[in-house]
Amino acid sequence: MATQRCEFCTARPNREVAVSRWREDPDDRERLTLWVCTKHLARMQKAGTRGWAHGDVFYKTGFW
Ligand SMILES: [Zn+2]
Repeated sequence: MATQRCEFCTARPNREVAVSRWREDPDDRERLTLWVCTKHLARMQKAGTRGWAHGDVFYKTGFW
């Protein structure tokens, strides 16, 4: 069975998404897949290309 909780909270994950993650420089991003809940997926999608800030780390959906 896959991950039982969202990467960012204790909610049940909705699906696995491809995300880009970076700290200061968006060009220096890491590409990975994370299991996230509906709420956190919506936050990342809403933030768009500038990314959703979680602490000092930014996330956006997609690898580009
Ligand atoms: Zn979540």
